[in-house]
Amino acid sequence: MKKVIVIGGGPAGMMAAGTAAENGCSVTLVEKNEKLGKKLFITGKGRCNVTNNTDPEGLINHTVTNPYFMYSAFYGFTSQDTMAFFENMGIPLKTERGNRVFPVSDKSSDIIKGLKRFLDDRGVKVMLNTKVKGLLIKNGKVTGVDTGEKKLSCDAVIIATGGMSYRSTGSDGDGYKFAKKCGHNVTKLYPSLVPLRVKEKFCAEMMGLSLKNVGAKFLVNGKSVYEDQGELMFSHFGVTGPLVLTGSAYINKIGEKDRAELVIDLKPALDEKELDNRLLKDFAKYANKSYKNALNDLLPQKLIPVIVRLSGVDGEKKVNGITREERQRILKLIKGFKMTIEGPTGFNEAVVTSGGVDVDEIDPSTMRSKLIEGLLFCGEVIDVDAFTGGFNLQIAFSTAFLAGNNV
Ligand SMILES: Cc1cc2nc3c(=O)[nH]c(=O)nc-3n(C[C@H](O)[C@H](O)[C@H](O)COP(=O)(O)OP(=O)(O)OC[C@H]3O[C@@H](n4cnc5c(N)ncnc54)[C@H](O)[C@@H]3O)c2cc1C
Repeated sequence: MKKVIVIGGGPAGMMAAGTAAENGCSVTLVEKNEKLGKKLFITGKGRCNVTNNTDPEGLINHTVTNPYFMYSAFYGFTSQDTMAFFENMGIPLKTERGNRVFPVSDKSSDIIKGLKRFLDDRGVKVMLNTKVKGLLIKNGKVTGVDTGEKKLSCDAVIIATGGMSYRSTGSDGDGYKFAKKCGHNVTKLYPSLVPLRVKEKFCAEMMGLSLKNVGAKFLVNGKSVYEDQGELMFSHFGVTGPLVLTGSAYINKIGEKDRAELVIDLKPALDEKELDNRLLKDFAKYANKSYKNALNDLLPQKLIPVIVRLSGVDGEKKVNGITREERQRILKLIKGFKMTIEGPTGFNEAVVTSGGVDVDEIDPSTMRSKLIEGLLFCGEVIDVDAFTGGFNLQIAFSTAFLAGNNV
């Protein structure tokens, strides 16, 4: 019986370990935490957006880094395979807005239970509270792993150690070290799907304010790189929320000399003419009030003092005294509220790590290392990442399925 060690008990490691055992291997899953799936538990705000109910092309289109490396993996284990896997484990799923798939129970713990059952049923040995310190390699071939206390021998190792975001969940970049040590190239690591720091201090003033259905345009050196409509939130350091997390994937690799901006359309449903009419209507309604008290129907309270200040129109000015030119300035500001992006907050707040083990050195149809015999990779440790929507977990499951079948 071939002896396989899987390092990392996240979604990728659990899927790879069970699949390898299903193929007749004797499998040990080594996890440094006291329990399996610590990060998986917090996914989807505790509900676990387990995959996206789309076809393999849809998965590829939502993969940001190295989508074509994922071709065999996505076709080999599709979203429908993920869904069937959990439903067969007795965990019913539901598809929500944007094809996002969740357990009907809204509990990520049910997804973890399903994966654990897969391990138990296939006879995988699980070693918790055990941190792998390094790989044992002889003549270009894996012979085991070193846990510091013990040297565990095996015929093959699957590295499923994840990225380096949310370090408290256990993913702190060990897999990159193991890969580098045996000659693999690890591409530069960036936090992705991450809140953004903004230069202007007004964000702190609006902390906690959530804007639903706004338009957002992300620009790098004046060129639009991503545009969409959705939800955005202000915080003491800048901005966050679904629009920002997705936008961050387009600007997380900018250099020091690049200029990144976020332009928000606060009223995307109204074109300039319609917004002008709306302003005229509101100003007529509040004709005798001061300008700072005339925007209550149009904008959320926390935003008004900021808009008033940035428009350069005196807030105390009576609305009936506002000139056409001043109204145009207010209008332009509402349609194009600009912020200067300083960069992502950091790995600790990032949903995923972008960058990882170089895909040129991994066989995309088996997940085997092209450099070391008996070494395979799966999950976030590989230089592949995607947008939010269940795509990152699908990457973990698809690559793990290939690794488990080809070990
Ligand atoms: C807050 C948050 C919410 C998210 N929500 C979603 C979502 O809803 N849908 C989605 O698709 N994606 C989501 N993601 C991303 C998704 O969780 C990851 O892409 C996925 O968990 C990666 O799986 P993995 O198995 O490769 O790595 P991980 O889940 O990070 O697991 C790696 C495991 O390896 C262990 N390990 C590391 N080093 C060692 C070592 N030396 N020895 C032993 N064990 C080790 C770690 O302790 C860890 O348990 C979210 C991420 C975060 C942070």
